[in-house]
Amino acid sequence: MKKVLLALLALITVVVAVLVINTARLSAGGTASTVAPVAVSVDSAGAIARLASAVRFETVSFEEGTRPPDSTAFRALHEHLRLSFPRVHQRLVRETVAGLSLLYTWRGTDTTLAPVVLMGHLDVVPVIPGTEGQWTHPPYGGVIADGYIWGRGTLDDKVSVLAALEGAEGALRAGFQPKRTVYFAFGHDEEVGGSSARALKAELLKRGIKPPALVLDEGGAIMPGAVVGTRGTVALVGASEKGFLSLQLSVQGTGGHSSTPPAHTAIGRLATAITRLEAEPFPLVLDGPALAMMERLRGGMPYAQRLALSNLWLFGPVVAQGMAKKPASAAMLRTTTAVTIIDGGVKANVLPIDAKATVNFRIRPGETMASVTEYVKRVIADTGVRVEAVGFRTDPSPVSDAKGTGFAAVEKSLREVFPEPGLVVTPYLVTGGTDARNWSDVSNQTFRFLAAPMTADALTRAHGTNERVGLGGYLIAVRFYERLLRNVDAM
Ligand SMILES: [Zn+2]
Repeated sequence: MKKVLLALLALITVVVAVLVINTARLSAGGTASTVAPVAVSVDSAGAIARLASAVRFETVSFEEGTRPPDSTAFRALHEHLRLSFPRVHQRLVRETVAGLSLLYTWRGTDTTLAPVVLMGHLDVVPVIPGTEGQWTHPPYGGVIADGYIWGRGTLDDKVSVLAALEGAEGALRAGFQPKRTVYFAFGHDEEVGGSSARALKAELLKRGIKPPALVLDEGGAIMPGAVVGTRGTVALVGASEKGFLSLQLSVQGTGGHSSTPPAHTAIGRLATAITRLEAEPFPLVLDGPALAMMERLRGGMPYAQRLALSNLWLFGPVVAQGMAKKPASAAMLRTTTAVTIIDGGVKANVLPIDAKATVNFRIRPGETMASVTEYVKRVIADTGVRVEAVGFRTDPSPVSDAKGTGFAAVEKSLREVFPEPGLVVTPYLVTGGTDARNWSDVSNQTFRFLAAPMTADALTRAHGTNERVGLGGYLIAVRFYERLLRNVDAM
């Protein structure tokens, strides 16, 4: 008995030692950045005015099939860019692709090097009908007030397009000539499927370009505090994005008079299927970009969290359960299930002849549209419920390598223009979708990031009411692009 107790004590001592050593070794505070700040002079008033003006062109993508885009507005925006960035338009070749998208080519001095592709989109979502009166300033007014530029596109995504071109104009003004060829690829229908981004990619591949050293699109941002338990500022750089699949569940009934019903009508049977799906969500898995993110963040966390995150071999399930409490972090760990549409029945005294529901899934890397469909059929466990995919769908994108030189260039550029002590720059999983997904199979240096601070409040404004960007934040993005052009060129 004594021997057993001694052995147990020895085992406990070893486990505790491993936990403590792992914690010290893996998350010993944040190491200070060695990147020196770089001053980048910007024509601040001019840059702010140019983005404000860009907002005034109503380049709206309406819901698919309802209304075509206003090509006059898009062409007027093209002209605004031409007048705003004279050096860019003198030095770079600009082409129109897919009707209303823009492709700029800045030919490098060494065309054997892998190129760089900087993306953004010219279109914006419509203003939600009925909310016009809630805007502090008109959504297409391009008003500058209270330290912000207000209007549609100031966060999503004219901000990226204008900041990238400001960076290029600034670099040209300073006499910069890239070694790598740089492409600016600005689509015009990201908000309705992004077919123009695919056309831009196809055009570049047709020209035989090498896998880019960096593809950068919208997605993450600088988040001041409050990212899953950290206190400092975190820059989230999207390394992958989730897949998208909508499954329609349908049940056929026999119809007839409601006075003599079967035990389950078509609606009841459908409801059972939905209940089962919600009762059995997809498993939580802490791997890929979500794991990489937690590994970079743990250094700034309280000891208990650092201990848990440094010993995932033991605490992995506990950490995952903890993260799953909030929908935003749960979405990084699992394929999500959202029942979004339901339809069935016509009259109170008539048995329904059919009932349908649409369930939207956002698929985490590691699963596929096929594996999700398989899982859904197994959980529903009722062959009377038909399951079929409807509408737009895509598998999760391949995960980019955050240890590569493209990521390093993004991180260095950010630290040069945003030298905040304790800033953590980390890859993460984008739970929505961007045009960048098209490039993930060509370049493992495909990332999603805008170098501007975004609070949680800002994120609700992006497709909502009172979209706006802080003037200081926008100028960080401008400086970031100017540095990025140089840093990625030197990689
Ligand atoms: Zn966007």
